[in-house]
Amino acid sequence: MKAKVLVVEDEEALALLAAAYLEREGIECHICGSGEEARIAFRGGSFDLVLLDINLPGMDGFEFLQELRLTSSVPVMVVSARESDEDVITGLSTGADEFVSKPVAPRVLAARVRALLRRSRIGSQPAGPRKTSSFGPFILDFDACMLSMGGKRVPLSAREFDVLAFLVDNPGKTYAAQDIYERVWGQRFGDATTVGVYIQRIRKKIEIDPGQPERILTLKGKGYRFNLEAFEGGA
Ligand code: CA
Repeated sequence: MKAKVLVVEDEEALALLAAAYLEREGIECHICGSGEEARIAFRGGSFDLVLLDINLPGMDGFEFLQELRLTSSVPVMVVSARESDEDVITGLSTGADEFVSKPVAPRVLAARVRALLRRSRIGSQPAGPRKTSSFGPFILDFDACMLSMGGKRVPLSAREFDVLAFLVDNPGKTYAAQDIYERVWGQRFGDATTVGVYIQRIRKKIEIDPGQPERILTLKGKGYRFNLEAFEGGA
């Protein structure tokens, strides 16, 4: 079943752009230009996530969120041009699950929405086959955000899972640390060397010899590659 997102944004061009990218990811969107409109839409439909602008005509995003939280625990991603620490704190304490500051590339926004949808599904398993990927003795369960080896859970932090899931989703392709950072962290600017730290941690969990990695390869000057062939036959 398609995930459904309520997009609350008064700038029509921005709303349409975000919706276009989300729909490309197979996500259905319903756009509202005000909190009042969103209140009615939310009552009338079932949504898997709310993408919420803060500066809105009439009631602002925080007011909408506060009211929404009285009746719903739907995941909410706040997107705001107001990026003072105070606003972030207000957003998170009002019940936002994530805070994204504008401007944000629509591609990045769509990736973050998808990641939040995935995380929020841990609590409510959808019916039907689970999305999993197996390599050698490992099974990566995208819905439960879990890695297991031979039926036993391999502990991973949420971010380690996200990095691994991204690589597993794109086997055989080489990604620069910066690309991985943008796709997984959802931010264009930041310390991409963090990616290397996470790769090291993941290697300790999936490589036979983390000092001589074969499963997540480092290609000098190019980046990292998930090497599916290296799992054949190995434990
Ligand atoms: Ca606005």
